[in-house]
Amino acid sequence: MIELKNISKWYGKFRALTDCSVTVNAGEVVVFCGPSGSGKSTLIKLINGLEVFQEGDLLYKGQSIRAGATRLSDLRRRIGMVFQHFELFPHLSVLQNLTIAQEKVLKRKSKEAEKKALLLLDRVGLSAHSHKYPAQLSGGQQQRVAIARSLCMDPEVMLFDEPTSALDPEMINEVLAVMIELAQDGMTMACVTHEMGFARKVADKVVFMDSGAIVETNSAEEFFTNPKSERARDFLAKILH
Ligand code: ADP
Repeated sequence: MIELKNISKWYGKFRALTDCSVTVNAGEVVVFCGPSGSGKSTLIKLINGLEVFQEGDLLYKGQSIRAGATRLSDLRRRIGMVFQHFELFPHLSVLQNLTIAQEKVLKRKSKEAEKKALLLLDRVGLSAHSHKYPAQLSGGQQQRVAIARSLCMDPEVMLFDEPTSALDPEMINEVLAVMIELAQDGMTMACVTHEMGFARKVADKVVFMDSGAIVETNSAEEFFTNPKSERARDFLAKILH
């Protein structure tokens, strides 16, 4: 579905990514982990064109971005993204947050958009909150709304950039439960997260990064029981404590 090939990226003179290659197959859940500043967020944002890269190539369903065979606007439409800080529109109700892009981008009629929105709010357990505004919801609820909003656009892939890092501990599980269900339903997912329990439960692949490079790509089972690299072993020892 997605292939990152030998990607390098600079922010000005600072090299943020060095020769990164990752494949995300259809239906796979790939978890990106590693120390803060290792380039995870930068790498995941490249996938839907929120960051640009200078070297390498990105293929979506075998079509190169570099060669112009896939347009960035198409990519963004097909790939949903959920951020650490939810990014809901504060002046719109939950329902309006879920319908606005459906109507403006996908040109759905408002009744159809509302029907879809209510279906997805139900899926994340928030049907009763459709008329509230984001500020009236807890952080965990806002993040579930953000996930539902992304799903309203019928994405082929979902990207998550530390979706639970800004949440109080008791709200983390309600968001992870939605993500686990999505994974089990067969959604293709790329997730930057420190939630190793989640990774262990649903990840097909773990990509461990350090200093802008991919140090190790492994199955979740192998990564947690027998990591290949010393750096991954150190990281796991710290994070699992
Ligand atoms: P991670 O997600 O692993 O914490 P990031 O991808 O956010 O890491 O950052 C990787 C490196 O790139 C860090 O050193 C960070 O300071 C740097 N960086 C990230 N975004 C920018 C930016 N917009 N401009 C300059 N440097 C950046």
